[in-house]
Amino acid sequence: MDGFNHEAGFETLAIHAGQEADPATGAVVPPIYQVSTYKQDGVGGLRGGYEYSRSANPTRTALEECLAALEGGVRGLAFASGMAAEDTLLRTICKPGDHVLIPDDAYGGTYRLISKVLTRWGVTYDPVPLTDVQAVRAAVRPETKLIWVETPTNPLLGVADIAALAHVARETGARLVVDNTFASPYLQRPLALGADIVVHSTTKYIGGHSDVVGGALVAADVELAQELAFHQNAMGAVAGPFDAWLTLRGVKTLGVRMDRHCANAMRIAEFLSRHPRVSAVHYPGLPEDPGHEVAAKQMRAFGGMVSFRHADGEEAAVRVCERAKIFTLGESLGGVESLIEHPGRMTHASAAGSPLEVPGDLVRLSVGIEDVDDLLADLEQALEV
Ligand SMILES: *Cc1c(COP(=O)(O)O)cnc(C)c1O
Repeated sequence: MDGFNHEAGFETLAIHAGQEADPATGAVVPPIYQVSTYKQDGVGGLRGGYEYSRSANPTRTALEECLAALEGGVRGLAFASGMAAEDTLLRTICKPGDHVLIPDDAYGGTYRLISKVLTRWGVTYDPVPLTDVQAVRAAVRPETKLIWVETPTNPLLGVADIAALAHVARETGARLVVDNTFASPYLQRPLALGADIVVHSTTKYIGGHSDVVGGALVAADVELAQELAFHQNAMGAVAGPFDAWLTLRGVKTLGVRMDRHCANAMRIAEFLSRHPRVSAVHYPGLPEDPGHEVAAKQMRAFGGMVSFRHADGEEAAVRVCERAKIFTLGESLGGVESLIEHPGRMTHASAAGSPLEVPGDLVRLSVGIEDVDDLLADLEQALEV
């Protein structure tokens, strides 16, 4: 990061942090160090600290330094997926008997990891409505180690007040983790608002091109960062060099992509809120949205995710998903191309019957960066009765 301090602007950091020209050749992009081990200059004589690529790899280091700079943390760690990052975080912080608070509309994979896997290792949890700070405070127990925050949430775009929840965490001795996947560090910087750790599925906006699966953790303090790095190496679910390189290539344009995602999503949310076949729109950018005020306080803009409920019920919602043409019917989000899905039968099918079940008439959009008039025309035709 030579020459770049925290005063450098976001786009400058995205393009340069951790990405000095290659010292051997001057290559302006960090090379893909597709290698498992490193020649030592005498026993223990490591060049630049590299010994074995599970422990560290230069392409991964470039990505990790860049993500740490973008989130304003002391250290970033890159993983093979968002779930691998979450698993490493949870098993670093929790031991049998510990308790975790999770959002009552958490990402389905997070809910599954905690409710189906970690409970077998003696970790307990409670879902809480994060929009209700008093309810979160009341749910904290002496053994609560983590308050897990997602904002905006998936798929209902609920907004949690990060600074207020960080205050609860500090008062109660729990740690505050924010899944910043939906906002990305361009729109929201949880560590500056008091969070201890940020988690990402870099598969989404950070990678941005639907061509790589990855995850990351960024920690606010050195001690916690060291513990997480120890577990990253001990558990081994690291990002490979090519995946790290693709993610780094994606993150360079995060700022310009997010500006367009946000502008397009706003136009689409406004269009949907006037449409007679739409009974509700969830988008924190709309002034009447319950999360608008808090989102305006803690986010630069309101993101690229929009969800809405179809006035004619579940079958009509499914039909819209199937009739869309430019919006591709598929899971995931955050890529340059627009996606549409039915959470009840797709991403959130496993939440059926749980406290995290989503309405059957709900449609979720990941608004891409195509020409917005084409996207509006596509939704118009898909919603025709
Ligand atoms: C996709 C996603 C994850 C999981 O990440 P993977 O890269 O799919 O393992 C976690 N949180 C949120 C909010 C996500 O959208």
